[in-house]
Amino acid sequence: MIQRRLIVLGSAGSIGVNTLEVVEHLRRTGAAKFEIVGLATGSNAALLAEQARRFNVSAVAIASHDRNDGSLDGIPNLLCGPDAAMRLVQQVAQPGDMVVGAMVGSAGIPATLEAINRGCDIALANKETLVAAGEIVIPRVHETGVALLPIDSEHSAIFQCLLGGRSMNEVRRLVITASGGPFRTWTESRIAEATVEQALNHPTWSMGAKITIDSASMMNKALEVIEAHWLFGLDESRIDVIIHPQSTVHSFVEFVDHSVLAQLGPPDMKTPIQYALTWPARAAGCSQSMDWTRLRSLEFEQVDARKFPAVSMAREVIRLGGTAGAIFNAANEAAVANFLARRIPFGMIYRLVRESLHELPVKPVTSIDDVFLADSEARRFVETRCSEFVQSHGSIRRAAAAAENH
Ligand code: MG
Repeated sequence: MIQRRLIVLGSAGSIGVNTLEVVEHLRRTGAAKFEIVGLATGSNAALLAEQARRFNVSAVAIASHDRNDGSLDGIPNLLCGPDAAMRLVQQVAQPGDMVVGAMVGSAGIPATLEAINRGCDIALANKETLVAAGEIVIPRVHETGVALLPIDSEHSAIFQCLLGGRSMNEVRRLVITASGGPFRTWTESRIAEATVEQALNHPTWSMGAKITIDSASMMNKALEVIEAHWLFGLDESRIDVIIHPQSTVHSFVEFVDHSVLAQLGPPDMKTPIQYALTWPARAAGCSQSMDWTRLRSLEFEQVDARKFPAVSMAREVIRLGGTAGAIFNAANEAAVANFLARRIPFGMIYRLVRESLHELPVKPVTSIDDVFLADSEARRFVETRCSEFVQSHGSIRRAAAAAENH
């Protein structure tokens, strides 16, 4: 039986909650006993407190919460503040522990780097960490010899297709599948004006708000192309994206002899989470088994680059290198937050990201501070552009309210 200590960063999010369900399932079935030694989350104090009690966790971290909220009272080791997750790792992590990195955005970088430096294996869902800081994170992974296991379903699929230590020289290309999101069949002009509710309505996956918006814009696929570049060390010309609305094939690997391997499964994040936790072993799963009697067809289509320019932008980011990834990611995070706050239209997300990439200087990355500097520059740039937009157009919310009153 696998016995390991586990820290979950981002425990109140969709991946964190699923991770804890997998941990309970593995414990119930006797396949693995994970001792949860630390939990970190953004702001959901009530859920964090419930998780801490359920798993008897003595050290928890929360980035921001209401001091008067008593739900975390009585937890022996409570860390608060924007760097709480990183301090939690500093206090609790030991070499050989496993850390699930499921925080949202580049906020996950410091705690993930800290865990790598402390010799912990990383099960990574937080793709933004690699997009923004791959140039620092990947060399540290190699230097420390820790395992970096992808939780992102497409990358887990590729990882599984490459099992057996295949040399990347034998790989012709990776083909990442994309559901196409809720706007796959929409026109470009309709997509540009999509509402928050429409963008949050994902056809196949149930996820947090940020990644669901990224899926609608296909920025998620762009981030995943960059993530694959860092995880598997391939040039952008050897990473393709194909739309596959059923979300059943999670990705393909084509080898130089043109043989293609795929990994299939129902769209349930518990499968890739569990594989990352039990790797290199497999244990009986807790998600649904594939129902082959209901599977009628698997469709594939090309990405319309005019409607969805995100993937082409990702290729440019990889070619540029340096701080381009940090700028790209931070601009997208800031643009998505402004879209969710109904300050800008959906179509403006692309424009803001493209402008950030072209108007801000792309510099070499020599330390993690270069990444953080580029990150905050891009956020400032986007915030300024959004404020200018709101000043000249009024927010989308006000525009909608005005339309309703007429
Ligand atoms: Mg994914």
